Amino acid sequence: MELSRRGFLKLSGAGIGVAALAQLGFSTPAFAAAEELRISEAKESTTVCPYCSVGCSAIVSVMDGKVVGLEGLPDSPINQAALCSKGQSIYQVANNDRRLQKVRYRAPGATEWEEKTWEDAIPRIARLIKDTRDATFVETEDVNGSKVTVNRCEGVAQLGGAALDNEECYLISKFARALGIVYLEHQARI
Ligand code: SF4
Repeated sequence: MELSRRGFLKLSGAGIGVAALAQLGFSTPAFAAAEELRISEAKESTTVCPYCSVGCSAIVSVMDGKVVGLEGLPDSPINQAALCSKGQSIYQVANNDRRLQKVRYRAPGATEWEEKTWEDAIPRIARLIKDTRDATFVETEDVNGSKVTVNRCEGVAQLGGAALDNEECYLISKFARALGIVYLEHQARI
């Protein structure tokens, strides 16, 4: 029988748990049924912890739009099922009444936020990036009396995040460098 690392940990963990409960006098079939119920009713997917540059992977169980379970991903070569205390709290990003789910905009000088759609926001962001780049682009610099081509965009910074995967980081950094951005940073280093 093919058994993944995760499957092995689940089976061995369930075995140890059932044996321990039996020693304490609990009805083990009832606990085994509860474990089965949790797995069959929740939808599992994988994610990456956003809090630091280690990039630990986790399995998230979701039921009725709420995160009901979180565990480190045993198959991840990075964390091998472990999560630190910050990583164990990432369910709070989803199960959180204060989480913003729509674009909010506050006009210059305004005191109230307005709700906007992505169709409003994306062209506006693109316009501001273009205008800022045009206004702050440095083509050449004087170095020891000679003009040197630098092609730097000094008015825009790019901030990446720890939840981005390799391919996303590649595309974002290529995009930033194509614009001439030199202030390119990672959220976990700040
Ligand atoms: S905060 Fe903890 S769980 Fe999250 S990526 Fe860093 S080490 Fe891993």
